[in-house]
Amino acid sequence: MGIKANIFNIQHFSVHDGPGVRTVVFFKGCSLHCRWCHNPESIHAAKEILLYPDRCIGCMACREVCPVGAQVFDETGHWIDRSKCIHCFKCCEECYADALVSVGEWRDTDSILKEILENKGYFDQSKGGVTFSGGECMLQPDALTELLKGCQAAGVHTAVDTAGNVPWESFEQVLPYTDLFLYDIKAMDSDVHKACTGVENGRILENFTRLADRGANIFVRYPYIPGMNDDQVEKIAEFLHRWQQIEAELLPYHKLGNSKYRALEAQNVFEGTVPSKDEVEMLKKKYGFR
Ligand code: SF4
Ligand code: SF4
Repeated sequence: MGIKANIFNIQHFSVHDGPGVRTVVFFKGCSLHCRWCHNPESIHAAKEILLYPDRCIGCMACREVCPVGAQVFDETGHWIDRSKCIHCFKCCEECYADALVSVGEWRDTDSILKEILENKGYFDQSKGGVTFSGGECMLQPDALTELLKGCQAAGVHTAVDTAGNVPWESFEQVLPYTDLFLYDIKAMDSDVHKACTGVENGRILENFTRLADRGANIFVRYPYIPGMNDDQVEKIAEFLHRWQQIEAELLPYHKLGNSKYRALEAQNVFEGTVPSKDEVEMLKKKYGFR
């Protein structure tokens, strides 16, 4: 029996998080709170409920089963009184329309590993592998190490997608079993980083420097968010210049996560401006991003 990992999704056949065809395991819980996060259900470690009113068929099963009257149907529509909710998740079990969905589960690493290895043939054919993402997968270093070890022993390429805001000891722990780090850098100026993510960036840049100086295989990802960190592009390019072998990608802001914010009934949702294709191409060319 392996140890347990707190995850919220396993996505198969991804082509966005490392080379080839990949299985991506999303860990739940993050030490950053990026204003634009595309996976808002990944931020809190605790299990949560997503509500999709457009899928609701009006059967009222959720209201009947809820022990505290937290499922509310009134003139404004259907909503959850989250101040009353005791997180029993009976409503999600009863909702056959998938309008109420629970996110987050503690799963045994053995069973996660088994699911990953089912796609070994696709990994081999495409030079792909597995990517551990989140949230912040490095906040669960023991479960992550167990999974990385198991994948490497089976000959599967391993990638760790991290924002780097964890103790250096966690990097030391996973380093021998990680073929590639996908490392997010969101800002060089600490005050900008704090405004974007809620935390300063000292530890993130220090960990990155130690990792890069050790010669780890790193691919940098810079989320480009107009109005938030668009003034950081040149500073990030300058910082990375020291390590000629490290490539970096500029990821332009998009709004694909907004439906999940609505499903979490979140307040003060970030509404940014999607940059134009021309602007993105110009910046990539000028500063050497992919
Ligand atoms: S159980 Fe699901 S489908 Fe039925 S009323 Fe509740 S949310 Fe709607
Ligand atoms: S999780 Fe339980 S308490 Fe919360 S809304 Fe659903 S049924 Fe009610």
